Amino acid sequence: MNTDNPFFNNQNEVRVAVAHGQGPYQNTLTALQSVFLGSVRDKRVLLKPNAGRMARPGEGVTTHPEVVTAAIDAFQQAGADVAVGDSPITGVKALEALEATGITAVAQKRNCPILDMDRRRFVEMDIPDCRVLNKLKLCADVLEFDVIVSIPVMKMHMHTDVTLSVKNMKGCLWRRSKVQLHMLPPIEGSDEKPLNVAIADMASVLRPHLAIIDGTVGMEGLGPAAGQPKALDCVVVSADAFAADAVACRLMGTRAEDVPHLRMGAERQLGVIDLDRVKITPEHWRDWASDFVRPPQNLSIEFPNVTVRDNNSCSACQSTLLLFLKEYADKIFDYLPEQNRLDIAIGKGHTELPEKTLCLGNCTARFKDSNPYVPGCPPVASEILKKLTGRTTLDKE
Ligand code: SF4
Repeated sequence: MNTDNPFFNNQNEVRVAVAHGQGPYQNTLTALQSVFLGSVRDKRVLLKPNAGRMARPGEGVTTHPEVVTAAIDAFQQAGADVAVGDSPITGVKALEALEATGITAVAQKRNCPILDMDRRRFVEMDIPDCRVLNKLKLCADVLEFDVIVSIPVMKMHMHTDVTLSVKNMKGCLWRRSKVQLHMLPPIEGSDEKPLNVAIADMASVLRPHLAIIDGTVGMEGLGPAAGQPKALDCVVVSADAFAADAVACRLMGTRAEDVPHLRMGAERQLGVIDLDRVKITPEHWRDWASDFVRPPQNLSIEFPNVTVRDNNSCSACQSTLLLFLKEYADKIFDYLPEQNRLDIAIGKGHTELPEKTLCLGNCTARFKDSNPYVPGCPPVASEILKKLTGRTTLDKE
């Protein structure tokens, strides 16, 4: 546990508060009443929302700006020096993403600084009890704040089952170093995905002091970016990020025990996911649960004429491909008269691929002489379309 956590009043009691039905701003303030904010007077507080992608409020991709607004108001009123910052996925600029989410506008009205956490050189941090990841490259800002608040969106995730307050801290890793977690080799003698183990490793040194989980509009299915928005109108708050995530999992119709990075973190005693050991308020919080559609194990189920061969890719390539397929999968074959199906490869783990497999991203460059190939890290959708059809748009002529 974060033994230096200013929000832990009683080390023996893990608390989670859920607020529902009052809209994002009031839900956040209501849930924050469960923690003693006076403990952050004169402290520097970094609010770390999920502004990892270019998306607008209400799409279920990025944190709702009114949740961040409420957090800024609450911490400023408590006498803290508050800033908001993020480091997005590869190919997205922090300040542009924060602006697109609507967070910049609300922060500026409150004289709350907005930080592009990628603007400075990283600071290296060792992970003494690691299994697969022995160092992190951390955004320098993170170490200069007294208190870190993780403010994720409630989302399903294709590769980590869910993405909540523990995994949201991956946005404190510097620039492309996030990709390192997706590029780890298989673990000898273990079936665990290296990515999940790496997130648990990260959480052993990088956990928020407070989690505020935005369930205003979450994402089900093909999360973290290509799923369907799912409105829940709730907010979850806890000083134990694992407990907050465990409650959010139940609200989404899943169990933290079935989410590998949460299970492994709890086994290492980084937090509590056993809800019998957590005091959750109000008592009827389970009434607000609503099952989120699980992410498909195989993308070809979603796009029947497309076989996606994903071997050790990262979320930037996955997002690009998913958004591309959502936009074009049903019309692209009109432009490919010779083909009625498509093989696509992403990720660096491929050793061989069927002939004509479309290879996307620099990680597949070794096949560029034998297969159609679109470079980029991540590749750009218009270039994928051009490679397939010779066009950059499929708009009606
Ligand atoms: S090419 Fe794609 S999978 Fe490889 S590092 Fe870049 S974004 Fe990730």
